[in-house]
Amino acid sequence: MRESSFPPGTQELSVEKQKARDLRHSSWWKKKVSSGTCFYCKKTFSPEDLTMDHLIPVSRGGKSEKMNLVPACKECNNKKKYLLPGEWEEYLDRILHS
Ligand SMILES: [Zn+2]
Repeated sequence: MRESSFPPGTQELSVEKQKARDLRHSSWWKKKVSSGTCFYCKKTFSPEDLTMDHLIPVSRGGKSEKMNLVPACKECNNKKKYLLPGEWEEYLDRILHS
């Protein structure tokens, strides 16, 4: 009964974030960033310049699963954070077609 009065997902959120942190040290992730390609802009970076990004953000119910985690360069990661969903799609459109 108590659980239903908690803000939904608070516990899950920290669990998913911890899972992401663990996966960042996995060989699966190291292999993924070793190509150095940003999932969004397709530009090449050095692996340490790529960050782990959730395709579906954890705050919107995304999980820290391999299929939901992609390498993103800092620029794309920042853009995704600060742009509105519509603006983000415009940004993607622009970088992929320029
Ligand atoms: Zn990028």
